[in-house]
Amino acid sequence: METSPGEDCCVKVAVHIRPLIGDEKLQGCKDCVSVVHGKPQVQIGTHSFTFDHVYGSTASPSTAMYQECVAPLVDGLFQGYNATVLAYGQTGSGKTYTMGTGFKDGFQTGLIPHVMNSLFNKIETSKNQAEFQLHVSFIEIHKEEVQDLLDSVSVNKSETANGHNGKVNIPGKPPIQIRESSNGVITLAGSTERSVRTLKEMADCLEQGSLSRATGSTNMNNQSSRSHAIFTITMEQMRKSGSNDGNSNECMTEEYLCAKLHLVDLAGSERAKRTGSDGLRFKEGSCFDILNGFESVSCVMVVDIFFIAGVHINRGLLALGNVISALGDEKKRKEGVHVPYRDSKLTRLLQDSLGGNSRTVMIACISPADINAEETLNTLKYANRAR
Ligand code: ADP
Ligand code: MG
Repeated sequence: METSPGEDCCVKVAVHIRPLIGDEKLQGCKDCVSVVHGKPQVQIGTHSFTFDHVYGSTASPSTAMYQECVAPLVDGLFQGYNATVLAYGQTGSGKTYTMGTGFKDGFQTGLIPHVMNSLFNKIETSKNQAEFQLHVSFIEIHKEEVQDLLDSVSVNKSETANGHNGKVNIPGKPPIQIRESSNGVITLAGSTERSVRTLKEMADCLEQGSLSRATGSTNMNNQSSRSHAIFTITMEQMRKSGSNDGNSNECMTEEYLCAKLHLVDLAGSERAKRTGSDGLRFKEGSCFDILNGFESVSCVMVVDIFFIAGVHINRGLLALGNVISALGDEKKRKEGVHVPYRDSKLTRLLQDSLGGNSRTVMIACISPADINAEETLNTLKYANRAR
């Protein structure tokens, strides 16, 4: 029997430790994270965690990271398997740099540019066996609303944006909706699906969306750190093959395959302190999520905001943690335990590309600086829960 890529282990987890950056050096921060030599093991204080891969801060890891973590997912795309790459971590930990969704940083070296290059190389070498059609969408989920980063109209509305990072609801344009077809395929109704034929066209989509994400708001850092950005490549394939499978069919057959790869730059995982009016803009979490995701915490509800022990939690990240931990628990999977995809827009959108036959890679991004030790530990614990 053919084994699907997802069968060996449903979620792989890698850690990416960035170097100390200028600000941290200026503040005299010390490096508080170490990697055990020759092992994918990270130590911080008295805590030690083992992952599938650890990429340290000394060398530029993007090529190795691409080869080890993401290339198998791109290969799977050609066999019809959906996949998801998630960059998780506190704001400033290097998620955007790692993915390559920043307009400047990582634009050449991030994982998405690697994906695009290798995808077009593979298509070039496979074009005698199959015909390919590629589509790209690039959206952002902010406060449980889906926003289109490739909608050229909304990009130009930046001046009139009201805290929406340049993307406002266009009169008459219905909101983007996540739909599920009868065979479980998730689609986004109302978002731009751009057909691309060349590497340049795909790179233009990445550039346009990244620019749209980064401009048009005085609150740029706030929104981009609180939203999930999802760059999705959908590949349709018409394969031509001779039937030598033992059946008496001797003519050429055509096989249609469609698969998608989601590349996700998640919202910052930091637990913002419950001070000031800032938190009041959040409408995130639910007691259900919270009780599912954490043991013995005090849960307080203020208006429509949820706090765990005084900090707000992003709804998508909570739900994602719960989904991934349910998927990673083999015993639960065998028992057919409910996977709570519907608890957030993020998990709903990724539903057909997490679990099942899909392959998922989470890259936990961390800063090595001692001032970030608490958040780094939180990130490592979250990532550890995913394994
Ligand atoms: P995030 O998206 O998690 O908020 P960024 O990707 O914006 O974080 O990174 C924060 C800062 O750290 C940026 O200035 C970026 O250039 C720098 N940085 C992140 N990762 C690396 C890395 N691996 N090497 C060098 N600089 C990095
Ligand atoms: Mg970022």
